[in-house]
Amino acid sequence: MEIYLDNCATTKVCQPAAEAVLRAMTQDYGNPSSLHKKGLDAEHILTSARRTAASLLGCDYSCVYFTGGATDSNNIAIQGALAAHPRDGKTIVTTTVEHPSVADTVTAMEKRGYTVKRIAPGPNGQFDPHEIVDAVDEDTVLVTFMMVNNELGTVLPYEKVVPAIRRRFPKVLIHMDGVQGFTKLPLSVSKLDLDLFSFSGHKLYAPKGIGGLYIKKGVRILPVEYGGGQEKGLRSGTEAVPSIAGLDAALNMIKENRAQILANYQNCNRLLRSLLADMPEVVINSPENGCPHILNISVPGIPSEIMLHALEEKGIYVSSGSACSKGALSGVLAAFHLPQERIRSALRISFSYETDESQLRTFAAALREVIDRLMKVVKAN
Ligand code: PMP
Repeated sequence: MEIYLDNCATTKVCQPAAEAVLRAMTQDYGNPSSLHKKGLDAEHILTSARRTAASLLGCDYSCVYFTGGATDSNNIAIQGALAAHPRDGKTIVTTTVEHPSVADTVTAMEKRGYTVKRIAPGPNGQFDPHEIVDAVDEDTVLVTFMMVNNELGTVLPYEKVVPAIRRRFPKVLIHMDGVQGFTKLPLSVSKLDLDLFSFSGHKLYAPKGIGGLYIKKGVRILPVEYGGGQEKGLRSGTEAVPSIAGLDAALNMIKENRAQILANYQNCNRLLRSLLADMPEVVINSPENGCPHILNISVPGIPSEIMLHALEEKGIYVSSGSACSKGALSGVLAAFHLPQERIRSALRISFSYETDESQLRTFAAALREVIDRLMKVVKAN
């Protein structure tokens, strides 16, 4: 038995995506730059995927660029935007809870002379939209923040922040790292008037190593790598056609089943919260109004890693904080003002469209048993 509850780290590729990948590798294996029919067939795969992504993003398909994943998208967005606008300001506004692909890129830019304003969530773990908006001034060239936090599921107030910045400073570039929110929350990048939006395939039932970047028409970005000029020169290198075919199929699967998938995340979240309510040792770290596919909990007194491996022995896979921090105590949870003891014992449970009630009941029973066993050990020490 295997129960996979680490879908924020990555998802299992859905069947239609796996089949599309195989087809693109064994039948439509041409290079999209080739002028013959094989090249054209591969080019059609790119166009189809661009149209599918655009329909979910709410934009024209010509604004969708394929990348090697969200880390790549975030780097191209941030570094490329700054490189293209050297005289439009020297300040970047961001938050203290970003994924390293944004946080570390921004820090690298800081070392090159940019001023960085990092906005923190309030003591209640929520962002005050005014604080983000008020940090933007005449010297601001770029605002970059995430849509949904990958450790807690906290939804950032993008619906308030983006229009407010636009009203005051229409030329400031606004980038959103949409990895954990894309397709899960209502969004139209054009209606919201974002300049840049990153997403990743492997969080959405597509293969790893494929992602996308939305770039608003007319927004200037310089490439961070040079080469054959693919993706209008912004992401050179022969396109990952099989992965893009997989992304297309996965996004179509989501599009066709969106209501049921979203309802499943909600139901899983509700059920798990109610099962955990019977366990006084468990504290819930995720906000009530968070993105429902993520539930972060703590069992103070039992370190995350010990709990993770005890559950693993029962075939249940969860995460200790974020997969990206590889066991280090989460700086992001500290930035959300969680006490040390809760950070040390944090577990992130994240659902997929396939997670079901029986899996969650098995998980809760396993958690009950593991807590009872480990608490005895903790108390004995
Ligand atoms: N941003 C966020 C919010 C993420 O959760 C992740 C993946 N953990 C990334 C960026 C990086 O995505 P990728 O793995 O596609 O590079």
